[in-house]
Amino acid sequence: MRLILLGPPGCGKGTQAKLLSERNGLEHIGTGDILREAIRQQTPAGLRAHPYVEKGQLVPDDLVNDVVAERFNLNDPPKCFVLDGYPRTLAQAIAFDQVLRQHYFDLTAVIFLQVSDEEIIARVGERWSCPKPGCKATYHTKSKPPRVPGVCDYCGTKLIQREDDRPETVRARLVVYHKNIGPLVEHYRVRGLLKEIPGHGAIDKVYASIMTVLNGQAKRKC
Ligand code: AMP
Repeated sequence: MRLILLGPPGCGKGTQAKLLSERNGLEHIGTGDILREAIRQQTPAGLRAHPYVEKGQLVPDDLVNDVVAERFNLNDPPKCFVLDGYPRTLAQAIAFDQVLRQHYFDLTAVIFLQVSDEEIIARVGERWSCPKPGCKATYHTKSKPPRVPGVCDYCGTKLIQREDDRPETVRARLVVYHKNIGPLVEHYRVRGLLKEIPGHGAIDKVYASIMTVLNGQAKRKC
């Protein structure tokens, strides 16, 4: 399968993308994770992205398009994947269409997770993340607490709250999200790819709804 996950920041895209990738053998490509790692390593892309990410603004389209195109231009591009956090603007969707065309890839579906702003603000304040590259597990103090408070279940790393998960930054991210989501959703709706899924409730329930909508395509070869 080749999937795109759309939805507001903190709606569970990262969690669902991780499950979809682990259970269906898809490569998980999260632009937020890639950018945070670039910032941590102070690469040229990371240094350029940092001021935008810390304020909750979108990084320029050309920067994130290059990051994704680079990932697909390696000798062994991902054939089955789930994209999480990209595209976020119509310009990015158009740029990604071009990447897909270069590889003769079709998308299987675009999953649009719907969660209200109030729930997002409540959820993100309780979110804790594992900062270890390659792990990146996320937790929620109520709905998905780690077994030992403050420690990652998978790798034992001390959990952190992301700098862009502060309430004022989350509000800024929601404003940016609402400004861009309409044209993006329309782009995929007219192509018959959009699948709208309620994103509230338990993680496994949301996952089951996604799989029901994908209608057994999980075993389909890309
Ligand atoms: P995320 O973890 O997906 O919520 O992304 C965290 C931050 O990374 C966002 O608030 C943006 O600053 C930046 N970012 C991630 N993906 C994109 C994208 N596709 N376009 C622009 N900025 C992005």
